[in-house]
Amino acid sequence: MMQIFMPLNFLGFIYREMKGAFASIEKMFALLAQVPAVRDDVQAPELCVSEGGIEFDGVSFAYSAERPIIEQLSFRVAPRQRVAIVGASGAGKSTLFKLLFRFYDCTGGRILIDGQDIRRVTQASLRRAIGVVPQDAVLFNGSIFDNIRYGCITATEAEVREAIRLSHLEEFIAQLPKGWDTQVGERGLKLSGGEKQRVAIARTILKRPPILVFDEATSSLDSHAEQSILRAMDEVSARHTALVIAHRLSTVVNADRILVLDQGRLVEQGNHAELLAQKGHYARLWRAQQDTATR
Ligand code: ADP
Ligand code: MG
Repeated sequence: MMQIFMPLNFLGFIYREMKGAFASIEKMFALLAQVPAVRDDVQAPELCVSEGGIEFDGVSFAYSAERPIIEQLSFRVAPRQRVAIVGASGAGKSTLFKLLFRFYDCTGGRILIDGQDIRRVTQASLRRAIGVVPQDAVLFNGSIFDNIRYGCITATEAEVREAIRLSHLEEFIAQLPKGWDTQVGERGLKLSGGEKQRVAIARTILKRPPILVFDEATSSLDSHAEQSILRAMDEVSARHTALVIAHRLSTVVNADRILVLDQGRLVEQGNHAELLAQKGHYARLWRAQQDTATR
């Protein structure tokens, strides 16, 4: 049953990639059917996640041969660490997560999860191991409860309640006359960006993947909404390996390590204090954002 969870995120993700050009879901599915999918090896084993450590080993990637996007990128994320990836828009942050998800295969190097090359294992097992909280979460027409339980169809009410608590949705749901039975989506209540994000986080909590990816999960939110998402992220990522992709640096100050990406290359890494002390790329990004915040 959990297999059906990933496609929703995944389709949402593909949809966002294409929405400039394609308006309808039907067209999206038609196009999806033509995408030359990465293939499983014959008799590929399942990914076996014991700890959730990630390694990018000399990874290069280009969407088209003439324009390299990621060049010779190497880094490790230890199990249960929270590592942030920052950099200007277009630096290649989302591409990294697409590679980890094996939406594309790298053109050079390899990506390992607990020592296993992700190209050698089944895609289904790889995608089961990774929970994604995307920039704009996709909800379907249905109740809040069903939208959350979609993360794990067999979850009990108690488990859903716990996920709601951890994702800081309790207050919001409590003030709805129908509570978690409230219908959302096109035919129901329209949720704000922050509320949708928290539903997506609650789903991911239920799914309990060993690896979490937040791709700009807070970038479209005001700072109040951002704070509650950050608290929810803290709760979830304490027990998982987490990659937090962010443009807004307030999202990453607490990360164990921050990787600074510039034009597909790793230019700096360290924690927030170390990077500020280096007075380099990160320090400049930080100052620029402080200036805009206080203006
Ligand atoms: P970031 O997430 O850091 O803003 P991305 O990883 O989305 O950056 O994009 C890195 C570069 O790759 C950008 O120049 C972008 O235009 C290009 N790019 C992203 N997706 C595609 C794609 N599907 N096809 C071709 N180029 C792409
Ligand atoms: Mg991006």
